[in-house]
Amino acid sequence: MTSSQPAATTGRRYRGSSLEARDIRIRFGPLEVLRGADLLAPAGKVVCVIGPSGSGKSTMLRCLNGLETRTSGQVLLDGEDTSTLDVNVLRQRIGMVFQHFNLFPHKTALQNVTLALTTVKKMPKDQATATAMQRLKDVGLADRSGHRPAQLSGGQQQRVAIARALAMEPEVMLFDEVTSALDPELVKGVLQLMADLARGGMTMVVVTHEMGFARQVADTVVFMDAGVVVEAGPPEQIFDAPGSPRLKKFLAQVL
Ligand code: ADP
Ligand code: MG
Repeated sequence: MTSSQPAATTGRRYRGSSLEARDIRIRFGPLEVLRGADLLAPAGKVVCVIGPSGSGKSTMLRCLNGLETRTSGQVLLDGEDTSTLDVNVLRQRIGMVFQHFNLFPHKTALQNVTLALTTVKKMPKDQATATAMQRLKDVGLADRSGHRPAQLSGGQQQRVAIARALAMEPEVMLFDEVTSALDPELVKGVLQLMADLARGGMTMVVVTHEMGFARQVADTVVFMDAGVVVEAGPPEQIFDAPGSPRLKKFLAQVL
């Protein structure tokens, strides 16, 4: 097996929790970027968030795992108000992967995954290394464990970043345009890995421009524009029977 294509993950099962955002408002100075936005990801389901650049998609994701301060609204994880949770605990329970992988350049793939386990989870080194190796296997990169990011393709680096997030055993995974910076031929492998996670029961909120992925993998597609959720529903409804003029216009531009 080569690792140019990820192995279908090992059929691992995940314990996804529900995640819900209610009436989120966030402002940057004079600009209200989220103006009462809602989002519901039931346990084990996939929500894809689509919408034009600047509509507030990234801000919404960052709000979900406590990276943005909101002026009002609630985020509930497994039914529990996250404002009472320690932010470090919250970020272990909700993993996030970004467009730019944010790996440590001078560390190997294995060290990148191990580090979070020893520092955040306080896991003993041997156990952390064994766990990290297993997560790299899950994303089809066991044979690249000793490589540094520069020695890996963009797709492989992104899979290391996903393995690092999975090592925390999150209940929800957030993905913010994780394939947007990849060369076209590397996109598919990352999307396949994400589809595997979805099949394994992970709760996922995925901001993406990959409409094919949204159509195939999402349980719900959320269309955001100008800081609000304009329309949400199953992919067939959003793509084949869009209700609002704004969604129709957006789809005409991207499809
Ligand atoms: P999207 O991800 O949909 O492209 P963002 O959530 O990144 O949109 O941004 C929504 C709006 O908020 C944009 O107008 C952006 O310029 C603005 N914005 C995002 N982050 C900040 C920030 N830290 N300070 C000021 N404005 C911001
Ligand atoms: Mg964004």
